[in-house]
Amino acid sequence: MSECIFCQIASKSIPADMVYESEDVVAFLDRHPVSPLHVLVIPRIHRETILDLSDEEWRGIHGAINTIAHEQGVAETGFRLVNNCGVDGGQTVAHVHFHLLGKRSHHWPPG
Ligand code: AMP
Ligand code: ZN
Repeated sequence: MSECIFCQIASKSIPADMVYESEDVVAFLDRHPVSPLHVLVIPRIHRETILDLSDEEWRGIHGAINTIAHEQGVAETGFRLVNNCGVDGGQTVAHVHFHLLGKRSHHWPPG
């Protein structure tokens, strides 16, 4: 079995609160939410960072984010999309993921 926690969530070996599933992408609630809506969007395939994604994988993630934003009711109000890439980016799980944060206003700079 994969050691990667997000691969295990994608394959349902460990539980998560799923909000979206397609052939290539899954999304689930972050276990330590920083906003009232905090969804993690990941490719099913293990890719470490955004630099490892193919054009097609990018497209699939983009489509999923579009659907999730509408389904979760933040398409009109807006949301923040965050990708922490590598050590300086603050990435703690080495399976590429996008944080979709919504249902409050977010400030800049993020710190
Ligand atoms: P990052 O710092 O960008 O790598 O973010 C990793 C995120 O994954 C953090 O916000 C964690 O709270 C979240 N996380 C880690 N393990 C789980 C899990 N098993 N279920 C849900 N969220 C998780
Ligand atoms: Zn993985």
